[in-house]
Amino acid sequence: MSLLVVGSTAFDTVETPHGTAADCLGGSSTYFCLAARLFTQPRLVSVVGDDFPAKHRALLAERGVDLAGLETKPGKTFRWHGRYSSDMNSRDTIDVQLNVFGDFQPKVPQSFRSTPFVFLANGAPATQASVLDQVDKPKFVVADTMDLWIEHHRDGLLALLPRLDGLIVNDSEVKQLTGKGNLIQAGRAVLAMGPKLVIVKKGEHGSFVFSNFFHYALPAYPTESVVDPTGAGDSFAGGFMGYLATCDSVSVWNLKRAIAYGTVTASLTVEGFGVERIAAAERGTVERRFHELQQFVSA
Ligand code: AMP
Repeated sequence: MSLLVVGSTAFDTVETPHGTAADCLGGSSTYFCLAARLFTQPRLVSVVGDDFPAKHRALLAERGVDLAGLETKPGKTFRWHGRYSSDMNSRDTIDVQLNVFGDFQPKVPQSFRSTPFVFLANGAPATQASVLDQVDKPKFVVADTMDLWIEHHRDGLLALLPRLDGLIVNDSEVKQLTGKGNLIQAGRAVLAMGPKLVIVKKGEHGSFVFSNFFHYALPAYPTESVVDPTGAGDSFAGGFMGYLATCDSVSVWNLKRAIAYGTVTASLTVEGFGVERIAAAERGTVERRFHELQQFVSA
């Protein structure tokens, strides 16, 4: 089944202990699409400026991303600059230039409106809600959020949560959202806010899943070579949603496998600067890592 993503497309500059990559292709929806396309054909709704080069468009199109919803506006593409700490477990945002993304009003093309799987990448909750106003009864909707929206757009976020099937957040965000320091209590508290599923990412320690029917945890794929963690979360979401979109039903069994596929696609992203590794990845590598991860966690 088809899969829609709405989010940022960017030029990123990234500094890690392994080096610096300047003005490379990035953005939440880019990472999502490059992971999801390993399973299905993602439909992208995003905005770029007239400085966005044809080669980036071609890279996405060649990998099966449907660009009918990629709007080009006069002006500059969104720019983000991040710098990682020496252990790469934290990062500072050095610069953000919203440019054409600043007043992004997603327009879902008519041909995308009946897409059953929808991912709302990190963005203002009101903008994310405006996407849901444009789609016809999607089967499974998942959103990402961040500290900025939890702090400054809390009411909008609380209004969005009951409209979601799933929320993906990291461990500090779930604690910030609920005010609870215990992860299990925090997970339960988010469920009480509306979504049926909460996925909490814990970076190199993997992820936790909370729902009213099951709880689940999976460690990260044991990669030795972390070069640039940028986009790991969006690639996780892309692998998770991309796999689910190929399943007959959103069952507990399929959700657990989807978490494992998201874990694998995130592991690929962090092994290269920017999108280079995930853009070059093939389904065979994903399957090999999926089986390695199964072996890694089985008793
Ligand atoms: P992640 O490492 O998963 O947080 O994703 C990093 C990506 O998100 C980068 O490619 C950035 O271009 C993009 N990004 C950073 N800040 C924002 C923001 N405020 N809104 C949307 N996308 C962002």
